[in-house]
Amino acid sequence: MRIRGFWPGVVLGLLLLSGFHAHPGHASEMAPALLPKDSSEFVLAPHVSFLHDVAGGMRLEDAVAARRDGAFAPLPGGNNSFGFQDGAFWFHARIVNRDPDESQWLLVQQYPLSDSIDLYALHPDGRMEHHQGGDHRPFSARSVRYRHPNFWLDLPADQPVDLFIRIQSESSMQVPLRLYTPTAFAEMSRDVQFGIGLYYGILLSLFFYNLVLWLTTRDSSYFWYVFHLTAFGLVLFTLNGLGFEYLWPDSAWMADRSVPLSICLAQVGVQQFARRFLDLRNRWPTGDRVGLGLIGFFLLLGVASAFLPYRISTPFASASVFISVGWVAVEAIVAIRRGYAPARIFLLAWATFLVGTAMFASVAFALLPKTFVTEYGVQIGSALEMLLLSIALGHRYAALRNENERIVRDAKRQLEHQVEKRTRELSEALGQLGDAHARLRESSQRDALTGLHTRRHFHEQLAPMLEEARSGGRPLSLLMIDLDHFKEINDRHGHLAGDACLRWAAHAIGDALRPHRALVARFGGEEFVAALPDHDLAAATAAAEKIRHQLDSAPCEALNRKTVVTTSIGVHQIDIATAGGIDAALERADRALYQAKAEGRNCVRTSTVAG
Ligand code: GH3
Ligand code: MG
Ligand code: MG
Repeated sequence: MRIRGFWPGVVLGLLLLSGFHAHPGHASEMAPALLPKDSSEFVLAPHVSFLHDVAGGMRLEDAVAARRDGAFAPLPGGNNSFGFQDGAFWFHARIVNRDPDESQWLLVQQYPLSDSIDLYALHPDGRMEHHQGGDHRPFSARSVRYRHPNFWLDLPADQPVDLFIRIQSESSMQVPLRLYTPTAFAEMSRDVQFGIGLYYGILLSLFFYNLVLWLTTRDSSYFWYVFHLTAFGLVLFTLNGLGFEYLWPDSAWMADRSVPLSICLAQVGVQQFARRFLDLRNRWPTGDRVGLGLIGFFLLLGVASAFLPYRISTPFASASVFISVGWVAVEAIVAIRRGYAPARIFLLAWATFLVGTAMFASVAFALLPKTFVTEYGVQIGSALEMLLLSIALGHRYAALRNENERIVRDAKRQLEHQVEKRTRELSEALGQLGDAHARLRESSQRDALTGLHTRRHFHEQLAPMLEEARSGGRPLSLLMIDLDHFKEINDRHGHLAGDACLRWAAHAIGDALRPHRALVARFGGEEFVAALPDHDLAAATAAAEKIRHQLDSAPCEALNRKTVVTTSIGVHQIDIATAGGIDAALERADRALYQAKAEGRNCVRTSTVAG
């Protein structure tokens, strides 16, 4: 899974963008590469010398002559990377195979993006082999169907073979050349393909997982995550040489454009994902606008890269990646500082990617030793990043759901509170209404002047009383009470005094009858009626006598005047054995009253006739 040289290519490319100028200078004869017996793999760089053909017009004969004249120089500092360069580069290495058992070797250029590679193998017997490679030639022309350009070499034992390699490319100029025996190549490519499969397997599973989540939740963060993942996967796919191998094996145009295009797409994806995930529009509007600006920039650059030369658009896009990547980190930090918890995992994910990439770049500068982790830093970092971002999305989704649940819960609680309050108010109002109703009914049952019951109420209550007396076989008596010569009192003292006396008399009657559990009412004018349960004629007569005596014994003190008010009372015991009506019973009591009036007033008379 080598993308050998891309990130260092980017870094070095930036540093060396001004152009690395080879100075042919003094001639130096490089030591030939001796392939030892029983070796299976050989790094060619220490034995390679080069010549920069700026105009790009040199032919093989010119290169051979130039080498003979000492115009070739060793790789500067042993480094096989030159950054973005004009013209063509010629490389030379002399190889002597010391292994008589192995004459077939595969030369692999472990950088997939070189445009055109011409390999010339000059044998001592004058034989010359010519192979072509690079992504400006069809993929099918390769010696082995493999993502890196490769060439079969026939290296007979102990014979020096001069390799001249001409590379012309708008991408970074790199010559990580390696020789493999067929077995060694098969084993190496098997391990690497396994690693590549593992990496894209992780990316694919995250892709489908989050795609399904996007389709089910319709949360656009998932869409932009999938977009970012796909575009980033495409960047690595391209840089690994797999894009050329599988997606556009015959298109030199796509081979050139795919790198800047996929870089721009990936940056659009990452910026848009960050905006959505961190909800910058609400959390940090300024940062959101910058993010939008970057998206616009990468969209423009993506479109422009279809027309711009590769050697301009690619370094430009690569350099812009640093700004974009840095900016995402800034956005995440601001979101964290503004209290957005899911941004922590987001930043952690981003950090793993940056650390992985930084480790990989450090190898190029020999700051870190080349180990599995450092060499595959970009892949490990990005796989971890994607995984953590997926977790962060889940975390964010859970946070949103909890927030929604809290809102619903609060709303419900508020509603319950409101309903409770309204119910309380309603029951209070109902209570007040009930009180008012009771008061109203009570007042309708009472006589306004005396406070005694009304005649109507008396009638209503007497019926059940009579029923009770009948069913219990108990006596029930009536008193008909009329004040004597009341007209005179009115005439003498005035109506107001008459009213006061009426009230006074009513109270006296009520007081006198209270111990008897009597039902007392004003019958009309200055006439009262009372029903005494459990009173036979004698008991009722005694009660009537008590009333008569009470009124007679003390004068009414109304309006500072003492007025004697006497009363005549007719008593009648209702015969509960016969089914006589109330009116008939009242009639009897009234007759007794008349008798009292007739017999001189201020006296009690009983009804003698049963009824
Ligand atoms: P008797 O002894 O025969 O009952 O004589 P009386 O004057 O009491 O009888 P009568 O039925 O002739 O007159 C009743 C009087 O009671 C007439 C009326 O002026 C008076 N009266 C009736 N209702 C009221 C009242 O609400 N207020 C006042 N001040 N007087 C009333
Ligand atoms: Mg009277
Ligand atoms: Mg009267």
